[in-house]
Amino acid sequence: MKFILTRELGRLAKWLRILGYDTEYFSQGNLSSLIIQALRDSRVIITRNHRLPQSPGIKAIFIKTEKIKEQLKESLKALMIPLDHALMFSRCIICNEQLVDIAKDKIKDKVPEYVFNTQEDFIRCPKCGRIYWQGTHWGNVEAILQEIEQ
Ligand SMILES: [Zn+2]
Repeated sequence: MKFILTRELGRLAKWLRILGYDTEYFSQGNLSSLIIQALRDSRVIITRNHRLPQSPGIKAIFIKTEKIKEQLKESLKALMIPLDHALMFSRCIICNEQLVDIAKDKIKDKVPEYVFNTQEDFIRCPKCGRIYWQGTHWGNVEAILQEIEQ
């Protein structure tokens, strides 16, 4: 399942990417170009914008809450998707690209020394070059997800 989120849901877009979902963030443009993009890529629209017109073939979810944890809960519930731990941390939070494994010896100068010395597995975004490793970048994601799952 793929998503497209409107301007006011930037944080939620990042979270859906952390969870591994293909999530576009529609921050510029009018509602009709949003609909065109959603139709073209078969994306579910997630929005708080009630001016979004009903269109045939478009699935849209309207988020009611303002707090990020609640928004995430609301989305997962509305979409009826369970959290899939295997998918998590597989996408770049910034560009939505699928991350790829990178050998430790190739990133020596690209991460802090402490990280290099304490981590074994690294993944890289092929688009922006950002390097990720378990723990640091994602902070307390696991803890937040546990709260959401309850
Ligand atoms: Zn990236």
